[in-house]
Amino acid sequence: MHPFRAACRSGLARIRAEGRYRTFTPLRKQADRFPVFTTTTPDGLTRDITVWSSNDYLAMGVHPAVIQAATHAAITMGAGAGGTRNIAGTSHLHDALETELAALHNKPAALLFTSGYVANQTTLATMLRSLPNWHVFSDAKNHNSMIAGIKGAPATVHIWAHNNLEDLERRLAAAPPDAPKLVAFESVYSMDGDIAPIGPICDIAERYHAMTYLDEVHAVGLYGPTGGGIAERDAVAHRIDIIEGTLAKGFGCHGGYIAADRDIVDFLRSTASGFIFTTSLPPTTAAAALASIRHVRADQARRETLHERAATLKSRLAAAGIPIIPTLSHIVPVQVGDATQCRQISQRLFDEFAIYATPINYPTVPVGEERLRLTPTPLHTDAMMNHLVSALQNVLTVRKLRVA
Ligand SMILES: *Cc1c(COP(=O)(O)O)cnc(C)c1O
Repeated sequence: MHPFRAACRSGLARIRAEGRYRTFTPLRKQADRFPVFTTTTPDGLTRDITVWSSNDYLAMGVHPAVIQAATHAAITMGAGAGGTRNIAGTSHLHDALETELAALHNKPAALLFTSGYVANQTTLATMLRSLPNWHVFSDAKNHNSMIAGIKGAPATVHIWAHNNLEDLERRLAAAPPDAPKLVAFESVYSMDGDIAPIGPICDIAERYHAMTYLDEVHAVGLYGPTGGGIAERDAVAHRIDIIEGTLAKGFGCHGGYIAADRDIVDFLRSTASGFIFTTSLPPTTAAAALASIRHVRADQARRETLHERAATLKSRLAAAGIPIIPTLSHIVPVQVGDATQCRQISQRLFDEFAIYATPINYPTVPVGEERLRLTPTPLHTDAMMNHLVSALQNVLTVRKLRVA
């Protein structure tokens, strides 16, 4: 047996033993019934499932204007982009989308990537290879895509304690004064649902002449008067050098981007391998994303409904005695604290209550912090919430009795 095959076998055995083996639940999205999906049971029947864990936070992925734009683009332009941006892969849609994204963040320019993951990985990797002696200051809870860009780069990496201003400042102060510095962090952290103090982080970064790189993936579309994210909400976007976002969460489509000043965007356009050497977003996706952003920027009512739904869900769960991790965002984590139980609870919600809530286990969160991550959308009704709360009461109570 080739050593890699042997490594796969033993690796899988270890992953299974540790309860980390991943199984995916096939769910069919119903564009006219979101957040109700369907699944096929082992005996071939179709069953409705209410999904509480989608990152299509504003349900824009099923918005008629977005579907219409994707359909129209497919009919008129076909399915694929046919090349990289350089090789016949730039359409008027790509240019318009970048203009729209720059406007969303009030920056001079923007650049599209295949995904938010690639945007983070290739932007950071390219920046950190562009100069010798970078010192990068990365929040301890930064997403894997940022870590992927930072790791392996010829830079000195400082991991600062999550959202901890004193720790950030202490580390910046200790670094060589003349070294180029970059502070990389997120606005809304997806697992804990907490929010970075962007203004105070900028105060500190400015004191030490550090550039700032902000991942607004879980905030774009959702926060700020036009959906520009937490930086827009806090009126500090102009203080962030590079804002990174996704078209796949609040905007319900696919793709990633950065918004920054013209020189930075132009430089990355000409040097970032994860931008240059991959086929550009298909016209269907570019058209859908453009329609989605234009709609979301103007639709403050949709944002308000999302936040009302999240607040209502939190207060109902709390009133029912269900242990939630308190957050100031739209993300509602329900504490479980054990990987096996977390998976079992999720499975029982699915089997007995037709509810899908993803179990979040190590390595996404630390051992002992396992949880269900609930993400209400504007289309989750009161009746769905009542059903979820009583289902959670049921599965969590039975668990406690069993443990006792
Ligand atoms: C999901 C996520 C990304 C990646 O975005 P995709 O468009 O899904 O690739 C980047 N950063 C954070 C914080 C994320 O949660």
